[in-house]
Amino acid sequence: MPFSCLSHLECSRCRATYDAGQVQGTCTCGAPLLARYDLAKVGASLDPKALDTTQRGLDLWRYHELLPVQDPEAVVSLGEGMTPLLPLRAMGERLGVERLLMKDEGLVPTGTFKARGATAGVSRARELGVTGVAMPTNGNAGAAWALYSARAGLPCLIAMPTGAPQVAAAECVAAGAELYLVDGLIGDAGHLVAAALEGRPGYQDVATLKEPYRLEGKKTMGIEIAEQLGWSLPDVIVYPTGGGVGIIGIHKALLELAELGWVTGPLPRLVAVQAAGCAPIVRAFQQGARASEPWPEPSTVAFGINVAKALGDFLVLDALYSTGGTAVAVSDEDLLADQRELARAEGCFVCPEGAACFSAVRQLRKQGWLSAHDQVVVLNTGTGLKYPGTVKVEAPVLAPDQAIPSPGPRQAP
Ligand SMILES: *Cc1c(COP(=O)(O)O)cnc(C)c1O
Ligand SMILES: [Zn+2]
Repeated sequence: MPFSCLSHLECSRCRATYDAGQVQGTCTCGAPLLARYDLAKVGASLDPKALDTTQRGLDLWRYHELLPVQDPEAVVSLGEGMTPLLPLRAMGERLGVERLLMKDEGLVPTGTFKARGATAGVSRARELGVTGVAMPTNGNAGAAWALYSARAGLPCLIAMPTGAPQVAAAECVAAGAELYLVDGLIGDAGHLVAAALEGRPGYQDVATLKEPYRLEGKKTMGIEIAEQLGWSLPDVIVYPTGGGVGIIGIHKALLELAELGWVTGPLPRLVAVQAAGCAPIVRAFQQGARASEPWPEPSTVAFGINVAKALGDFLVLDALYSTGGTAVAVSDEDLLADQRELARAEGCFVCPEGAACFSAVRQLRKQGWLSAHDQVVVLNTGTGLKYPGTVKVEAPVLAPDQAIPSPGPRQAP
């Protein structure tokens, strides 16, 4: 069997097909292209139980038949993937959900799940002969692509809002990327990148869903969840949604696994979580719409989900409708409170986007949308270490000759 069983690309809207052997952007109709595989071939020759071998390693390339890179030598990896699926008993008790699990993407290289998209996207771009990649970003994607591009020896142009996290800009600088800070939002950065590429033949615009392979890397979160649960599926998966690639990727993975027969039964209900200050998908879902309207003046501390209008909004909404899922908006105040609650209850310092999912679970349980017995998987998309400003340090300052106060009466456990 070949390393990859990629067969062609297909438009997610009009179903037109494209040659996967060429560099491709979006469909002529403007919609994202999806990678399609010869699943019959994969299913006939691969037993999912046999994946669990020392030979395949534990990075996401262990699923190489279902990934786009043709030549194993072309893979650019930093060891990303197979993040822990942690049971959260204490937090689950507080939220009223007995079987709460968190897939912790804070442990991948670059500190966010964006590394999954970068390993697939950069590997395939280089394999297809692209001479440089360029993208607008809210920070984390740019950092991941800058670092993976450095490993690939591929020039990388990044444009991010001046308001993006300092850490992400620092990662781009460290990686030697060509970095521009834009006094505007990610949409403005996108226009600047697209215009710049007219004068740079060989460069590819790798903005969210403008090339087909980032999604393939991100879908491995869905495959890993199934594998980690012994090829069974949870009742619900909760995802912080910005550009939508994460949740669209998980949905795509689950559909592929079902077609392969590696999982059976109903798909998990997918939940898209957004910030109250930028909730175009939530609004569209509440209106029963098939696409979203641009959100005016988006603003949230959860920078990774500050996307006013996603190119793949209709695919996110389709994932929610077709799985019986839902969409939830949470305030910055709530998600910051849950970021601290989770660190206290479980020892997990998550990013604000991940924290938003716990606020969403709280809401959904209160409303009765979630039952106490549902098995719920929350995606923490990154480490809290990338957002040092989200927790104010309030502690007594002591002079060296001062004593640390003795503890008060101990509280009963
Ligand atoms: C990008 C990002 C998201 C949103 O992911 P999408 O795939 O764009 O929906 C969530 N959390 C973090 C930390 C991110 O960097
Ligand atoms: Zn099309």
